[in-house]
Amino acid sequence: MRESFLKRLFAKVNCGICGQKYDASNIKILDQEDGLWVISVYCGSCGTQGLIAAVVQEGNITDIITDLTESEHHLFDDKEAIRVEDVVDMHNFLKEFDGDFDSLFFKE
Ligand SMILES: [Zn+2]
Repeated sequence: MRESFLKRLFAKVNCGICGQKYDASNIKILDQEDGLWVISVYCGSCGTQGLIAAVVQEGNITDIITDLTESEHHLFDDKEAIRVEDVVDMHNFLKEFDGDFDSLFFKE
């Protein structure tokens, strides 16, 4: 969905006045025609209101495919990206793992 993508994108933009990130609920899409999106942003921290015009060309935006909800998405905003070492660790763990979740989670 393009609208939710744009909202997520602008939720990563910092307010030009106070530097705080915009809250997704304070980002409103006002109009959209021929790839021109007019977006209103409101900074909850300093109260600054702004208008952003964005030109979005067809095919240049890839929707983020995720099964995370909006709030789960925010949980990971500040987390570090997964590194190769993390994948190798998980690979080695799964190689040895016998499927016994009971002893994994309910270890004495
Ligand atoms: Zn601000």
